[in-house]
Amino acid sequence: MKHTKIVDLLTGKNLLHEVKAKGWVRTFRNNQFIALNDGSTINNIQCVVDLDKFPAELLKKIHTGAALSVTGTLVESQGAGQTVEIQVNKLKVYGEANPEEYPIQPKKHSLEFLRENAHLRVRTNIFGAIMRVRSTLSYAVHKYFQENGFFYFNAPIITGSDAEGAGEMFRVTNLDLNNLPRTEEGNINFKEDFFGKTTNLTVSGQLEAETYAMALGSVYTFGPTFRAENSNTSRHLAEFWMIEPEVAFNDLDDNMDLAEDFIKYVIKYTLEKCQDDLVFLDKRLQDEEKNKPQAERSGMSLLEKLNFVVENNFKRVSYTEAVDILRNCKPNKNKKFKYIIDGWGADLQSEHERYLVEKHFKCPVILFDYPAEIKAFYMRMNEDGKTVRAMDILFPGIGEIVGGSEREERYDVLVEKMKAMGIEEEELWWYLDTRKFGTAPHSGFGLGFERLVLFATGMTNIRDVIPFPRTPQSAEF
Ligand code: ATP
Ligand code: MN
Repeated sequence: MKHTKIVDLLTGKNLLHEVKAKGWVRTFRNNQFIALNDGSTINNIQCVVDLDKFPAELLKKIHTGAALSVTGTLVESQGAGQTVEIQVNKLKVYGEANPEEYPIQPKKHSLEFLRENAHLRVRTNIFGAIMRVRSTLSYAVHKYFQENGFFYFNAPIITGSDAEGAGEMFRVTNLDLNNLPRTEEGNINFKEDFFGKTTNLTVSGQLEAETYAMALGSVYTFGPTFRAENSNTSRHLAEFWMIEPEVAFNDLDDNMDLAEDFIKYVIKYTLEKCQDDLVFLDKRLQDEEKNKPQAERSGMSLLEKLNFVVENNFKRVSYTEAVDILRNCKPNKNKKFKYIIDGWGADLQSEHERYLVEKHFKCPVILFDYPAEIKAFYMRMNEDGKTVRAMDILFPGIGEIVGGSEREERYDVLVEKMKAMGIEEEELWWYLDTRKFGTAPHSGFGLGFERLVLFATGMTNIRDVIPFPRTPQSAEF
């Protein structure tokens, strides 16, 4: 007999039939009630064991974490808290989990402890919920783009250009580090390296995606991205997943519309598909908030926040307006900010972004038209000659979730800009070709997938929303 997923058993449609479930024991109460979970849902199925039917030897093996197969009749439950349960006739223990050694016990573990046990943490309710939400969000990402005429484009992970991420990249090499080939001048001779040149892990697939947008029209990437930035924050990973749509003939307004519509869609989809998990995460967050001082509490529950984003327009504000607000705001005047905003041109830090979103506008914010100096070379120059058609989307609790722009499609202006910023034309000859042959206005953005999962789950540390986080000094598992 084949087993049935617990999520399907709990619908009760096999009532009074013989069913089989396989999963892991969450708890075993009174030597009689097994709460079994198979990962298909956050909910367990209760399996009722008749003591007399089974040898004590067998029952002794049932502990939190043990893997079981149970066969029995699905009946309406007498107890509170569940609708159906299995009256067990047959019981098989696949693998035990010695409670003296098994780290995941039925009690509250700290997130730090669970990070150290990242290979087992997904067996807890909280990480099961997070990872199911993550999976659903991934699916929604593809669904949105595929249903809106986008083509999935796989950007290379090993890249030969380091124009974008100078100093923040991970070198890819197969040279013998203990015996490096040297040039006559004594430098490392990368001609002898695998690719005959220096190569790195990608920090973004955008430049390559642009070449594809110039033929397929609308494309998106969704893949791993690497940044060797030594910023030990709760929002940065060394390896993370990025979504980068790129659309021919879109201007910055179209780009903002796309980003907003996309984010609303994936959150709405997840609200529909992950109800049980989100209700659990919502409750978890409410419990967390109770321990915080009043001033730091968010005032909205997780579900309220998600619904708010789906139902309300993001506020669109120019960088210049934002700087005016920040310059005159209380925390700036009282020197509560770590970085004081005293003039136009300053790069905004996370504390400023969060002030705008959480305190001033109290909704997601899209900032646009940033000073050219603080943005990348490929962003389109405005008429004023000092701002570029950039846009960042800022979210409560997170800060920047999206960074995007209308691209500089004018060959001469782009070359000029590259010269000014010290970016070598020879290295990006292929990128410049897109401006030489059939150039057209186009726009795109990058959304850090883990930041989206952070928002959707109400978690606060990015290490808790990716299965095996890579951060400075940490690549266990
Ligand atoms: P930040 O200022 O937060 O470091 P950024 O300006 O470096 O972000 P972009 O280069 O615009 O970010 O990358 C696009 C998106 O990728 C960001 O909006 C963010 O959501 C995400 N992102 C960037 N760096 C990281 C990282 N190290 N870990 C996780 N996500 C990241
Ligand atoms: Mn960064």
